[in-house]
Amino acid sequence: MQLYNSATHKKEPFQTHTPGHVEMYTCGPTVYHFAHIGNLRSYIMEDVLEKQLRFDGYEVNRVMNITDVGHLASDADEGEDKMLTGAKREHKSVLEIAQFYTDAFFSDCAKLNIKTPDVVQPATGLIDEYIQIVSGLMEKGYAYLAGGNVYFDTAKLERYYVFNDHNEEDLAVGVREGVEADSNKRNRNDFVLWFTKSKFEDQALKWDSPWGVGYPGWHIECSGISMKFNGEYLDLHCGGIDNAFPHHTNEIAQSESYLGHPWCPQWFHVHHLNTEGGKMSKSKGEFLTVSLLEEKGYDPLVYRFFCLQSHYRKALVFSWENLDNAAGTFQKLIARIAALKPEDGPVEQEQKDALVERFKGALNNDLNTAQAVTCVYDVLKAKTNGATKLAVLGEYDKVLSLDLLAKAEAKRKEAAKATAATQNGCVITGEGDPAIDALVLARFEAKKAKNFAEADRIRDELAGQGIVLTDVPGGTKWSRG
Ligand code: AMP
Ligand code: ZN
Repeated sequence: MQLYNSATHKKEPFQTHTPGHVEMYTCGPTVYHFAHIGNLRSYIMEDVLEKQLRFDGYEVNRVMNITDVGHLASDADEGEDKMLTGAKREHKSVLEIAQFYTDAFFSDCAKLNIKTPDVVQPATGLIDEYIQIVSGLMEKGYAYLAGGNVYFDTAKLERYYVFNDHNEEDLAVGVREGVEADSNKRNRNDFVLWFTKSKFEDQALKWDSPWGVGYPGWHIECSGISMKFNGEYLDLHCGGIDNAFPHHTNEIAQSESYLGHPWCPQWFHVHHLNTEGGKMSKSKGEFLTVSLLEEKGYDPLVYRFFCLQSHYRKALVFSWENLDNAAGTFQKLIARIAALKPEDGPVEQEQKDALVERFKGALNNDLNTAQAVTCVYDVLKAKTNGATKLAVLGEYDKVLSLDLLAKAEAKRKEAAKATAATQNGCVITGEGDPAIDALVLARFEAKKAKNFAEADRIRDELAGQGIVLTDVPGGTKWSRG
């Protein structure tokens, strides 16, 4: 696979420390609110990446954290812990908030066919590990104590700005976010490893440490969790593009300083989902969720399809019109797959292999999901039988996860039901609802017996339920008006 690596700014052949095995880490959600569909764009694309690696034959160990402590209002360690903001908003404890939004996150993921990572670790569960890393950094001289907090000293590094070549002024987080600078910091981009003193005395979760009672900084959790479950050598680290700086930059700084060797060579960053008004963000308050899509009648997989239609390294603009277009295209696609006949076989192996190779080629080219979707249409047009096409699409769906075959099968059954309702010489075409079909048939028979009053009565009864009837030669069509 060729994959763009944000650490080198190049598309490169994908490599692993151990042949055939991938250690993969994903920054998980901060569980103080629902995930918005922008967050979920990142998780959808990371899910496709993981599944494609598995499809290519790799064994993958994927680890994700759940941020339930230490992520402050600004990524520059300023402001209130987001979890506390959530708890106050809902008059609940931080732990209740964490549990509720963690469950909500995985329920959204399930609706989008995003696989749960092999290891999911809440940040609060690994405090001893962070303390060990911070102690190690103190011993090696990479960290200092100031005003009660432990900071990482970025001046000790030869190279700190790993993801971009911007200068320090541009990246100074305090300036960028318009927050008050922390006078304890020796250098502007030094960051907190362990807090004992924040401006917020009512921090809900606190633990004992060699530096006093406090709580870990946000960045240390990902290094600690990854080292514990991925080991000392990570192959691939993922996250949304906003995580590149300062979060991932700081993860690299502290991990490599602690371990004394390079830590993770490959970085995968998903660009943002924007609304027409700008970036979607949880802290802005108004944002779109999977539940809202469902309330508006969209199948969540239409959103997955929408995301797959564009490349992960381009910003994607969400609008209802764009989503409607995706919904229409997806419906037509399912209808075309439903028209394939499974009994039109047998599977032609050579054809199948060639079509699967084409699909792999698209995804192995820096995860070109739009091209992979085009491959689906190429299968429909391919010169081979229905059974082969369905078998190929089944393979594609191991990565796309759009339920292509299940949805097509459901549509086929629906169609079969509609014609199966041919009874007593009356062809009933509709959605296959037995109660309505029975009334349509009763009206047909009443008409045959010239009992027009009864036939009209039934028509009116159905009209009362919003059902519109159209008489056609040999039967009746019905639809919901
Ligand atoms: P958070 O829950 O804020 O910690 O973010 C969870 C993940 O979503 C991180 O990987 C973020 O980088 C990513 N993310 C945040 N906003 C967006 C967005 N608008 N579009 C895509 N990904 C995002
Ligand atoms: Zn992280």
